Amino acid sequence: MPLDPARTVAELKELRELTGDENGAQRVAWTDTWERAREWLLGKLDGLPLEYQVDEAGNQWWTLAGGTDRAVLIGGHMDSVPNGGWLDGCLNVLAGVEVLRRVAEDGEPATTVRLVNWADEEGARFGRSLFGSSAAGGSMDDQDELRSRRDADGVPLPEALAAHGVELDRALEARSQLETAAAYLELHIEQGPVLESLDLPLGVVLGTFGVERHQVSFRGQAAHAGSTPMDKRRDALAGAAKLELELRAIAARAGEGAVCTMGGVVTRPGIVTSVVETAECLLDQRHLDAHQLAEMLSNAEAASRRFAEEERLEVEWERIWNIQPILFDDALIELADESITEVAGTSHRLPSGPLHDAAEVARAGVPTVMLFVQSLRGLSHTKLEDTKEEHLELAVQALDRLADKTISRVAAG
Ligand SMILES: [Zn+2]
Repeated sequence: MPLDPARTVAELKELRELTGDENGAQRVAWTDTWERAREWLLGKLDGLPLEYQVDEAGNQWWTLAGGTDRAVLIGGHMDSVPNGGWLDGCLNVLAGVEVLRRVAEDGEPATTVRLVNWADEEGARFGRSLFGSSAAGGSMDDQDELRSRRDADGVPLPEALAAHGVELDRALEARSQLETAAAYLELHIEQGPVLESLDLPLGVVLGTFGVERHQVSFRGQAAHAGSTPMDKRRDALAGAAKLELELRAIAARAGEGAVCTMGGVVTRPGIVTSVVETAECLLDQRHLDAHQLAEMLSNAEAASRRFAEEERLEVEWERIWNIQPILFDDALIELADESITEVAGTSHRLPSGPLHDAAEVARAGVPTVMLFVQSLRGLSHTKLEDTKEEHLELAVQALDRLADKTISRVAAG
């Protein structure tokens, strides 16, 4: 059975019929629709010489035994956000299914090959992304907090997991799954506009951005909007507004895909008859290079102090969350580049803005690489998410080439 990329596209459509509605994909993790998708996936791999198991974090694993125990992993996630797209996550799982079929048909591979469907990548129901991969990767350290999390209907997280056979307290035991992992490959839609703007179907991902998230609070003085002359105001929103616009220059100076976003500003008292006393800004900064990220952060801090002084305000910074950049494996990046060039003529290297399961696996020390396939209009997490079918087929071919090269490389030690 040679590789049949058109079958992957047909199966993606079948999945969309089975688990989507007029608003998009509804495969939210720890729901019946998600379970239906997992059952369906299990059926797709029926008949192949695979060992099947579900680990302690709810991740599904299929193992094709090879010449050595050292395993090449292909991973993705079947879960979606509510009203999600038809490709996010499941494209890689189904491309992986096709690659497994091809590899199995060719006889015993030189190394073991494993497909994983990570549980709850999106974190849509409980606000905790990368659940299954962070458990397997060993970075999950928030179990105490997760124990008290509830969904919008008040259902506790441990209860929802238990309904799907997962005990939160045992989730970290999934770590044993990565003990034999020698390489991890993940294909994903880009979810951004870069490849489309370059008119390229595929790219190699260099790593995932480091992220610095802060709340920046400017404080001035509430005063009557009618009786306070313009030059007597201490308007906290003026500081926030200046900082928002300065972020463009800060990102431009860092370059290499740097992004800075002020995603929210809450003003108080927040009434039309008062000058703004406090402006609480949510700031998100991302870069692939840790040094550049630190530089962007210190530039934003310095700018905020300058604007506070100009506007006679106080400014305070509080870190909400941060993560270091996670770089993918140089040798696998080369193999991915070759694979893309073979099937599409031209390759391109780019960072990933969003985190992915691949970041957790890389963080656990497994050599990792990702392929991105072009997203039309850069849209994702919406039913408008789309990729040209010919590009999806090229992506399956590129993943297949990459799997082949990686198996040879791992087998050669
Ligand atoms: Zn995804």
